[in-house]
Amino acid sequence: MKKYLKEHEWLIIEDQFSAEMHESSESIFSIGNGKMGMRANFEESYSGKSLQGTYIAGVYYPDKTRVGWWKNGYPEYFAKVLNAPNWMGLTIEFNSQVLDLNIGKVKSFERVLDMFNGTLSRKFIYIFPNGEEIKVDVLRFLSIKQDEIGAYQYKIEVLKGKGEIKITSFIDGDVKNKDSNYDEKFWDYLSHEINPSYTYLEQKTKKTEFKVAFAVFEEIKLNQLKIEWDFKNGIEKEKWAGKSYDFSFVEGDIIEITKTASLACSLYGSNLKSDAVNNLNNALKKGFNQLLTEHKDEWNQKWKYCDIRIEGDVPAQQGIRFNIFQLNCTYTGKDPRLNIGPKGFTGEKYGGSTYWDTEAYCLPFYLSTAEPKVSWQLLEYRYKQLDKAIENAQKLGFNNGAALYPMVTMNGEECHNEWEITFEEIHRNGAIAFAIYNHANYTGNDQWIYSGGLEVLTGIARFWAQRVNWSGDKKKYVILGVTGPNEYENNVNNNWYTNYIAAWCLNYALKCVQISQGDKEFYQNFQAKTQISESELDFWKMVADEMYYPESHELGVFLQQDSYLDKELLNADQLNPAERPINQHWSWDRILRSCFIKQADVLQGLYFFNDHFDIETIKRNFDFYEPKTVHESSLSPCVHVVLAAQLGYQEKAYELYLRTSRLDLDDYNKEVHEGLHITSMAGTWMAVVQGFGGMKVKNNMLQFKPSLPKNWTSFSFKIRFRDRLIEIITNKDSMKAYLLEGEALDIEIDHQLFQLDKEKPALFSLLQNA
Ligand code: BGC
Repeated sequence: MKKYLKEHEWLIIEDQFSAEMHESSESIFSIGNGKMGMRANFEESYSGKSLQGTYIAGVYYPDKTRVGWWKNGYPEYFAKVLNAPNWMGLTIEFNSQVLDLNIGKVKSFERVLDMFNGTLSRKFIYIFPNGEEIKVDVLRFLSIKQDEIGAYQYKIEVLKGKGEIKITSFIDGDVKNKDSNYDEKFWDYLSHEINPSYTYLEQKTKKTEFKVAFAVFEEIKLNQLKIEWDFKNGIEKEKWAGKSYDFSFVEGDIIEITKTASLACSLYGSNLKSDAVNNLNNALKKGFNQLLTEHKDEWNQKWKYCDIRIEGDVPAQQGIRFNIFQLNCTYTGKDPRLNIGPKGFTGEKYGGSTYWDTEAYCLPFYLSTAEPKVSWQLLEYRYKQLDKAIENAQKLGFNNGAALYPMVTMNGEECHNEWEITFEEIHRNGAIAFAIYNHANYTGNDQWIYSGGLEVLTGIARFWAQRVNWSGDKKKYVILGVTGPNEYENNVNNNWYTNYIAAWCLNYALKCVQISQGDKEFYQNFQAKTQISESELDFWKMVADEMYYPESHELGVFLQQDSYLDKELLNADQLNPAERPINQHWSWDRILRSCFIKQADVLQGLYFFNDHFDIETIKRNFDFYEPKTVHESSLSPCVHVVLAAQLGYQEKAYELYLRTSRLDLDDYNKEVHEGLHITSMAGTWMAVVQGFGGMKVKNNMLQFKPSLPKNWTSFSFKIRFRDRLIEIITNKDSMKAYLLEGEALDIEIDHQLFQLDKEKPALFSLLQNA
């Protein structure tokens, strides 16, 4: 773990150029706007190690998935998030020497991600091999207001030297994925145009045939005078189009390049050229400064609703804002076809887009911080894919409308092919049902249940009802051959978490069906569509009532799976530190036989269904499982933080919080160069709000239970809740709740009831309870 970034409340700062850390910085300084995103690749040429990455939401390639030992039910392909054409392209030559930080001397360097304003900037002084010296100042953003627009301003001041300069601005569509097999390329050329008003390049993806186009325009000024482009200087290469500008320079000159790009994609319309060019022209009419102001205003507005302030601990403050920033870069909820990939727009790994991460970890963040339509879109995404989930279950031998949602997907089809995950990590279905419950519970209305939710719940309940079998020995329903959230055990029987969530899904689906029976017209249509019968509902109930849960009465804990106690029971602190993370040092066979837990499993259940259990039960299970958990999934620590805070394990909660919130900034898992852990960032938010803030919604009431980490002077967060905006501020003395927008409501802080209205904040003293 190499710490090289400066600590700051709102900024991420790298104040020295390090070729060694460059790929990590490219991940960390990534920006996005929900529709597209990019790693912090340099605008100008860079010949050092770099992972080139521009990504467009929803654009993927179905890669071959043939494996040696083919198993029926495997998906046809593995989806790859595609590295898309790079609109930023810029080559700068001074007296025929290319500006390349890997070649000349970098005298000073600073790269800054301004999270409040959503901008990426860079300043450096560079000396060319022949001695010319320049000072460069760059500012880049991807507009969050107009999400098809990206722009940068690149200023060069000549500090020393004179001669000829050549600037080439281009779109490079000849890009590939680092993870492509045999250097395979995924884009086909369609058309291009170079004219004084723009450069245009249109391409399409192989197989999936997504068309993507960029129209760009660069304005180049020398000492504030525009340099005209000469028609002769258009350059065309395969999948590449650009323009070059030649002129002379002397010491003291200021050269400004303002490049604006507009994206068009077949996901949004069929006339790509006119879309891209019209949007570009509109953006150019506004000009860089206005585009930037609108973009900043939108970001500032977002922060108004989602910021978390932590006083007294700058690393923790920077960590949480970084997480919130990246989540907002990844998903804006404008399009129900899009979702939240584990790496967002910051890398290629986890090629497919949607995992259970969205429902289990991300939904609460968007529910509390974004406009209601954002979380609605996340639910809609799965509803739109219900038919595919039913087909997916059919392929595996299920019938009667049983739905198995994919482990990894882009468009509803499964695109993951490791049998122990694809076929066995079926708990994902439970998280999708839980998200429907979570949404209804948080928003206080069950509108979604009537807008598709009930069909999803029915498909899921049907799956569980068919996936169980009756054990003559146990005289209970069992679920065999599964992988729980802890992927360090495969093909186990009766994973407690899976069995618990399966039974819960059956009960919840049943409850929703019964409630919907109150609306005769709705129910008739639902019945006609799903052919649901009373005997089927009775069977759901029977399975839920008679589900088997592995448990050790002696230890007083739920068992992760039937034979967990047969393992040699060690704690993670007995591991040789040099062998951690174990997934990078141990054989898979050794991992599977060990008791070490990759991520929250039983504890995931105790987090979801917290109110079903008393505090002693939660404590016994936490005390048993936490020491055995190696947290080698980024999704793990946040769940443990919430439970540790609930149990009053302050130090543990804080230690794990830092690990989740600075996972990428401090590169705990030694893999940040591959991209950021976007979905776990929502878990970090959860750790503060649900962990240290103790927020939950129980019996229709918003509740809090404060616990302030020792190192913090105070922390505060805002949440949207049922048409209201509420701010919660906790310091050593008290927790205060302010109603900033909306109507008065009742809330509870540590079981004390408050009537909260705009004039009267709730004040809960922590001193009297100390
Ligand atoms: C975790 C899964 C998760 C996936 C994507 C894996 O390492 O074990 O639970 O869905 O990463 O984040």
